[in-house]
Amino acid sequence: MRKIIIAGNWKMYKTIKEAIELSNALKREFFKLDTQAIDIVLCPPFTALSEVAEAVNETGIKLGGQDLYWAGEGAFTGEVSGRMLRDAGCEFVIIGHSERRQFFSETNESVNKKTKAALECGLTPIVCVGERLDEREAGKTFDVLRSHIEGALTGLSAEDVLRIIIAYEPVWAIGTGKTATPEQAQEAHKYIRDLLHKLYNQEVAQEVRIQYGGSVKPENTAELMNQPDVDGALVGGASLKAESFSEIIKKASEVLK
Ligand code: PEP
Repeated sequence: MRKIIIAGNWKMYKTIKEAIELSNALKREFFKLDTQAIDIVLCPPFTALSEVAEAVNETGIKLGGQDLYWAGEGAFTGEVSGRMLRDAGCEFVIIGHSERRQFFSETNESVNKKTKAALECGLTPIVCVGERLDEREAGKTFDVLRSHIEGALTGLSAEDVLRIIIAYEPVWAIGTGKTATPEQAQEAHKYIRDLLHKLYNQEVAQEVRIQYGGSVKPENTAELMNQPDVDGALVGGASLKAESFSEIIKKASEVLK
């Protein structure tokens, strides 16, 4: 049984005050829901991590960073380490988001170093993989997924990989309003799970949670979560409002796996 995990990626939105307001509004909404069966993770910008941690303290809502640097500390102006994320209250960290790959030269190699660094300091990496539209149209979706997964997991043992979450995020569906159909999502998730089996073993393939990300909204949550290999969602735009994010959580928690 894989527990559904819904994470909200707030990207570069929300001042500290706005982040506290959203956290408090979410707390009020989640109070009405049975959220025991589901993991809920908020990933605010770095500047608001501590305040959001305080706002959601003792609610069961978990916290994640949106990125980290692989060194423990040092002269790396502008970067944030895994240890700093832990210190701010994080249990999770998003790694290799397509926006980082597209705008900040993130590569499979840097994703691999960051994944190792996250594991070393006890964070759960949410490793993002996914093809661009031109790659899908050229029939290269599985090739891209294989290269992202093999790249991210290079040098990691089965025990390490059991502590990772993978987010399948087709780039053409992120922030575009275009969602992958449940069949497209299931096909990609199944491919990833089969690849984990080939690279590791049956246990890894069965245990690792694979989230879908790309224009997830309350209206499409249930059909996506109902797919056998879809274990949750990484939500961007719809996580910025308490009503839509809590509606997604509600729909996801109604899905019986
Ligand atoms: C994301 O940022 O990971 C994402 C999936 O964004 P959106 O839900 O807005 O498409």
